Amino acid sequence: MNKNPQRQATPFELQRRSLIESLRGRGIQNEDVLRAMYAVPREAFVPEALAMRAYEDSALPIEKKQTISQPYTVAIMTQTLDLSSPSRVLEIGTGSGYQAAVLAAMGHKVVSIERHAALSQRARTTLHLLGFDVVCRIGDGTIGYREGGPYDGIIVTAGAPDVPEILARQLTIGGKMVIPVGTLVQQELYRVVRTAEESWKAEPLGQAKFVPLIGRSGWDETTGRS
Ligand code: SAH
Repeated sequence: MNKNPQRQATPFELQRRSLIESLRGRGIQNEDVLRAMYAVPREAFVPEALAMRAYEDSALPIEKKQTISQPYTVAIMTQTLDLSSPSRVLEIGTGSGYQAAVLAAMGHKVVSIERHAALSQRARTTLHLLGFDVVCRIGDGTIGYREGGPYDGIIVTAGAPDVPEILARQLTIGGKMVIPVGTLVQQELYRVVRTAEESWKAEPLGQAKFVPLIGRSGWDETTGRS
């Protein structure tokens, strides 16, 4: 935490600490996840005008009508992946880059895909300035990124109509995917585990609300159909 006892914690650090304690109170027990979230300055990933709200436990708007996920959601999804470090992880939906930073802070090797070039570029700059090593790619993440795989973990941070089979096939045997599946307005969070070459097991984890996953194995942006 505060390595130099002479130095006063900054207001952001104090807010971050209290957020971590509230996540602990809400059932996040994985210390690696909590430590990583303490190491990542969320204020750097939200629009400057919203920096004062960076440690509210809520999603906040970013560019291109997208959102940075709520801290609790980031924590529960990361905890659910339950990966030993270092693992190979694919994120679909870079957005602000915050979730990717948390995974990188845990020591994982992260590839993150975003369909909006402007978001990807901004996230890449923020991650680089903070020293997080994340490979950012622009494109349709519903088809995954086979070149970087197979993955021990895949985290989809946008709501899908179904589990894209092409993504499920980029998991290692024993690899896990966390993905919200449902309608455009409401989803159920699932953990999908690849148990054998041709076998997957899906467990529901609870209700969630994400921006839509748009793409070949996602929603159609213009018609709103899958
Ligand atoms: N993980 C992000 C949350 C971003 S919201 C964070 O920590 O800030 C979800 C993101 O998924 C949006 O930026 C959206 O543009 C992106 N997205 C939606 N469909 C996508 C697709 N098919 N491929 C890649 N990114 C996608």
